[in-house]
Amino acid sequence: MNTIRELKKSDLIKAYTDAGFSTETACAEIDFAIEVISGLTPKDLIIGIMPSLKDIQKLYDTVQTRLSTRQPIAQLLGCSYFMGNKFEISVNTLIPRPETELLVKTAIEIINEKNFKQVLDIGTGCGCIACMIAKHTKAQVLGVDISNDALKISLNNAMHLDLMNRALFRKSDLFSKIREEEKFDFIVSNPPYIPYSEKPHLQTEVREFEPDSALFTSDNKGLEFYRKITALAPQYLNSSGYLAFEVGIKQACDVKDLMSDAGFKNIDILKDVSSVERVVVGNLS
Ligand code: GLN
Repeated sequence: MNTIRELKKSDLIKAYTDAGFSTETACAEIDFAIEVISGLTPKDLIIGIMPSLKDIQKLYDTVQTRLSTRQPIAQLLGCSYFMGNKFEISVNTLIPRPETELLVKTAIEIINEKNFKQVLDIGTGCGCIACMIAKHTKAQVLGVDISNDALKISLNNAMHLDLMNRALFRKSDLFSKIREEEKFDFIVSNPPYIPYSEKPHLQTEVREFEPDSALFTSDNKGLEFYRKITALAPQYLNSSGYLAFEVGIKQACDVKDLMSDAGFKNIDILKDVSSVERVVVGNLS
């Protein structure tokens, strides 16, 4: 791209809309990119504080890459917001989704109400679920993941949020490295839940750039990980322990049945802001 001398947000917005994005998405991504690259907020810009020429150049280059490759802006900038906190992310971690806030808020409410102290987050990825539960409760949260790269990032995030004492991370394929005597009050998970057969239908940003291991299941209903986690969860839960999942569209009833078969009771299905059944939560007694 040619050398850029001044920041013209309207040109950037037009580049986005020409590429088929809504103005709303354009503004959100551009404001986010400006904030990450230069530390300036939209208010700073309104009162005339401008990014340096170097930062403006970086912003234009980032937007050009974003629009020509369709790589998510969060990956290009190396971070994303979740529940008002900034998290490091990479191509090896799922980008936190706003709908996952429902899972975390549900967990936080129950953990605080019951004064629970031990929480397990299965498939922690960038650690956003584990860190937010640790931040908003008095519990110690163990985040496990099969991916070394994801675990390095989750650890960085706990460090940056000053949660190192209460958000811990361990390499484990589901429960494989959880010891028999370790018991939890609450197990939470946003596991992969998209059937691999649906991969061709996903948007380019997800299909080509986000990690397969965080997205897909081998079965055709997307239930593989709900099945595996639900079957073993009772062994690792205290007698009144809870299990809560994020689920994909139309999976809630199947997951409820799996939990019921494994002995869970009081199983609730919660809807997200778009009225999608998004969280299934139940307890052992
Ligand atoms: N919600 C994500 C998506 O729709 C998938 C996350 C997951 O599989 N856990 O892209």
